[in-house]
Parts: sequence; structure tokens; C-alpha cells
Amino acid sequence: MQAQEASGPNALVTRFDDIAGIDRSKLEVQEVVEMLRSPGRYAALGASVPRGVLLAGPPGSGKTLLARATAAEAGVPFLNAAATEFVELFVGRGAARVRQLFERARKMAPCIVFIDEIDALRARSSSLMGMAGGNQEAESTLNQLLTCMDGLATREPGRPVVVIAATNRPEVLDEALLRPGRFDRVVQVPLPNAAGRLEILKVHLRLRAVPVAPEVTSQQLGEIAEKCDGFPGAALEAIVNEAAIRAARRNSSTVNMVDFEAAVSEFNQSREKTRIPDF
Ligand code: ATP
Repeated sequence: MQAQEASGPNALVTRFDDIAGIDRSKLEVQEVVEMLRSPGRYAALGASVPRGVLLAGPPGSGKTLLARATAAEAGVPFLNAAATEFVELFVGRGAARVRQLFERARKMAPCIVFIDEIDALRARSSSLMGMAGGNQEAESTLNQLLTCMDGLATREPGRPVVVIAATNRPEVLDEALLRPGRFDRVVQVPLPNAAGRLEILKVHLRLRAVPVAPEVTSQQLGEIAEKCDGFPGAALEAIVNEAAIRAARRNSSTVNMVDFEAAVSEFNQSREKTRIPDF
């Protein structure tokens, strides 16, 4: 696993304006942006920038998006890693990878380190993905991460490294991760309500410059948003894409309400098909 920077050739630069429906989560990470922009102002008052922020919420709700946007808004590099990649490959490599990641972060500071699926680092899980030695590997990787995070405390306050982690399963996290000075700020990233879903649909229509038919008013789109109960942002983006594909198939130059309605019902059907039955 190689950490990636937002400045790479395939970089996706996300801004807060491109994130909708999770206003409270945005507000909570806004403070991290302010601290990264002017760490000296906080240091002068004896306040230190938080070392770790945990984003907790269901899949596709915008956690990665929020972390990327925090880096972009603060104007700092974004180092991206997935905890599953730390522990998947070779036993004994996880801790070294964590050390390398933090060494790079120290050189690039001020910066953000993003660790996705942090719940993969569980010290007390009975087995990890059925791999022999997986449990021990996750534990030593976790310990290395804790050591690296504790080491951030001694850094110069003007060049902070903030570690943002994401999880869909905050309840299984090792308690050691949540202690003061580690991931002691938890930001919930919930599913959007109907008004939030409407805003997310509008964001993706704008980002993709989708030409909508004149009949598709904000009120009509609101009705689509109502029908998408329980959908995360990622699903709403897929709805916009599917509606546009349907319009293209019809050889139309605009996307109409029938396209949106069909996209939602197709999405619901495929969700039903892939639903894992309860035992
Ligand atoms: P996972 O837990 O599966 O990693 P996640 O919470 O990190 O998911 P993202 O990867 O941030 O979700 O979201 C996937 C895509 O869905 C984003 O790139 C974006 O296009 C869209 N999306 C998700 N949430 C939002 C949102 N709140 N506003 C706008 N777009 C969103």
C-alpha cells in the first residue's frame, strides 16, 4: 500500500460545497480546518490541534469525502491509507507500513493522514479474515498506530499532523483508540434526511452538469428525494448517473422525471436482490 497525496495526477479535490445533507458533521470538522489553517493562533492560547478525529457512519455517507475536503479546505496534503491493507498482505508488515506512513506525514506536515476502515485493527478479535496470525498482526499494527499517534504530541505546534479515521462499526473499535490524545473527537456522519437527500441530488446534478428537463423543478426533485428513504450520498450519486444514462439511451438531450423515477426503482430492485437474508 502506498499512501496517496491529493496533489497526485489522479487527485480528486473535494470542497465543502460539494458535500450536502450532513451539515452538522461538516460544521464539526470545520474547526479542524481552522486549526490547520492557522495553528499559531491556537498555540498562542495554549490550545493544541486535535491529533485524531474519528468519522463514524454507514457506508457511502460521505466520510472519505469529508476527510478529503478537510484537507482541501485547509490547503494541506492528504495521505490516504486503508487499515485493511495494513493487515491483509504479509504478517509482520503492518507495523512497518504504519511507521512509514507517519514518517512521510512528519515530512509533509502540516497535513492530514486518513485511515479508512480503522475497525480492521482490532486487538481482541478472535480471527482476522480467517488468516493464521491475523489477530496478532492486527494487534501489533494497532499498537504501532497508537505509538505513532502518541508521538505526534511532541511535534512542533506550528506544523500539526491530524489523523482522521473512518469506520462503519464504531462499536467494535478497540477502546485504546478512543483515549484522550488519540481519536478523542468522534464526528457522526449519518444518513441524510429528505431535505439533505434533495441537496445531495442537486450537488451531483451540478457537478456532472446534467441537463434536466424544464418539468424537473426543485419540488419534483424533492419528491424523488422522498422516495430515497435510507439512501446514503453514494446511492444518490448513482441515481443521478443512472437517470442520465436512461436519458442518453432514449436519445434525449435532457433528463426527465421518468428517468429519475426509473433510476430509483431500479436501484431499489437491485438492493432487494443483493440483500443478504437474515439468519
Ligand atoms: P465507506 O464507508 O463505504 O468507505 P464513505 O462514507 O467513505 O463510504 P464516500 O466514499 O465519502 O463514503 O462517498 C462515496 C461517494 O458518494 C462520494 O465520492 C460522493 O460522490 C458521494 N457522496 C457520499 N456522501 C455524500 C454527501 N454527503 N454529499 C455529496 N456526495 C456524497
